[in-house]
Amino acid sequence: MSQQAEHLDPTDSDLPAFAFDNSFARELEGFYVAQPAAKVPEPRLLLLNRGLAAELGLDADALDSDAGAQIFAGNIAPEGAAPLAQAYAGHQFGGFSPQLGDGRALLLGEIVDAHGQRRDIQLKGSGRTPFSRSGDGKAALGPVLREYLIGEAMHALGVPTTRALAAVATGEPVYRETALPGAVLTRVSASHLRVGTFQFFAARQDFDKVRQLSDYAIARHHPAARDAENPYLAFFEAVADVQAELVAQWMSIGFIHGVMNTDNMTISGETIDYGPCAFMDAYAPETVFSSIDTHGRYAYGNQPPILAWNLARLAECLIPLVDDDRDTAVEILTEAANKVAGKFQAAWLARMRAKIGLVDEVDGDEELVHDLLDAMHSGGADFTLTFRRLSAAVRGDLDPLRELFSDTAKLDAWLPRWQERIEPSGASADAPTADKMDRVNPVYIPRNHKVEEALEAAVERSDLGPVKSMLDVVTRPFEDVDGQDDYATPGPKLAAPYQTFCGT
Ligand code: AMP
Ligand code: MG
Repeated sequence: MSQQAEHLDPTDSDLPAFAFDNSFARELEGFYVAQPAAKVPEPRLLLLNRGLAAELGLDADALDSDAGAQIFAGNIAPEGAAPLAQAYAGHQFGGFSPQLGDGRALLLGEIVDAHGQRRDIQLKGSGRTPFSRSGDGKAALGPVLREYLIGEAMHALGVPTTRALAAVATGEPVYRETALPGAVLTRVSASHLRVGTFQFFAARQDFDKVRQLSDYAIARHHPAARDAENPYLAFFEAVADVQAELVAQWMSIGFIHGVMNTDNMTISGETIDYGPCAFMDAYAPETVFSSIDTHGRYAYGNQPPILAWNLARLAECLIPLVDDDRDTAVEILTEAANKVAGKFQAAWLARMRAKIGLVDEVDGDEELVHDLLDAMHSGGADFTLTFRRLSAAVRGDLDPLRELFSDTAKLDAWLPRWQERIEPSGASADAPTADKMDRVNPVYIPRNHKVEEALEAAVERSDLGPVKSMLDVVTRPFEDVDGQDDYATPGPKLAAPYQTFCGT
């Protein structure tokens, strides 16, 4: 521990204060293991999310300090923290693991934020826990900064997500294929309850605990379900609604999560566990970035069916809660699970309509969207830029759009149909329509080559400049800023496909 840390006392009234109120620790004994964080030699605060700190009622100035670094590294548990590792199971690439759990993360506690919302504060990379199996419980700097960058970009894009509060370097190496600088991420979420949390207890046939967990999740995330005729069915439906909306959002911005295991699927409907995720450049539904996803289970175009598959696993956990008669319960839940594809489709179509500037609903819209996607696929057009440049087309300039397509035959057939469709509402002459489209179609996403460039500077040269510059850009994704073209365009074509790694 550094000199300064030696004389930092967690009960010291000068330490930054966290108004913890730890409902999970209090109400769900038996669902976790209490576990302090590992101590690290030389914590150094790399990034602090001041806006988020303010939302959480934290004093950013006080946290921007050695004491803050010690807290975010896990060397000091602030007063009121109750560090614990949560138990969960999960289907990983389709195979069930009855025990996963927080192997490299600790829930420090919960804070009720300025909007009255309860948020988890979690350290990721804070050392071994009883769930670590053969892992070291640590995180490397690259993946920590990657989760910070992409999570904050997603938030700015309007996607429900865990957020990054701070990143610290630990001053110790972690050993992967090579020795890498170690780091800890502090992340904030509506909760860390996952489909896999339910599976952990259902797999052990402990349905009292599944019920207790459901009641907790209902109170915390889906309170309307409590008053429904069948609360646990309503709970399932509420989770399905938020998850369908979430995956529709991912699809609408070309986001590929990469590891949609049931333990990475939240009950709150937030995106969680940014590992091998990445944004697609040219539209191709078969796109996979993750080095371990060899069969493309979590390919871009497979995310909607995987959503339904994952929710069916949640439904299975709830069978004994939904009806005393097993057959009846299975029938009810099967019917509910079968509605997931439709929920997704409706959420997706609403987003895609907005992306192409449609303000009303007409039969044939779905076909219109699909035909554009088909034109993008055969023309190798960039996903993000195509939608962004549709607004230029509304304003009368077709060239920027057309030049994204290597083959414009399908696009040229599609454009008049689209123009005719938006014409009746006066949209093509209508600047407000184009402006509205610009508010849902980002200019800037975290482009893969820019992410790699920024992480390389941080990891290889201890230069955080590029990460910070990129954060500035991707946290204002809809504002076209002069001189930032480099962030708006896909990188040079690579000899081999872009690959991402889980970063464990
Ligand atoms: P994830 O890839 O984050 O979804 O993690 C899957 C499971 O592996 C979770 O139970 C993690 O806690 C665990 N895990 C991942 N990396 C490590 C690590 N370095 N040490 C211990 N457990 C890990
Ligand atoms: Mg995970």
